[in-house]
Amino acid sequence: MRKIVTLVCVECLARNYKIKKNVLSTKKMQLNKYCPTCQKTTVHKETR
Ligand SMILES: [Zn+2]
Repeated sequence: MRKIVTLVCVECLARNYKIKKNVLSTKKMQLNKYCPTCQKTTVHKETR
């Protein structure tokens, strides 16, 4: 099964990305992604 998780920038809390995640790998994800609000690459965490 997959679920869709939203990734939020930890600096400005903008919801920039939605990704499909395989439920089998249920570690909390933290990704470095470009945030258009911060205009730089920041850490994005998943929310639920
Ligand atoms: Zn940001």
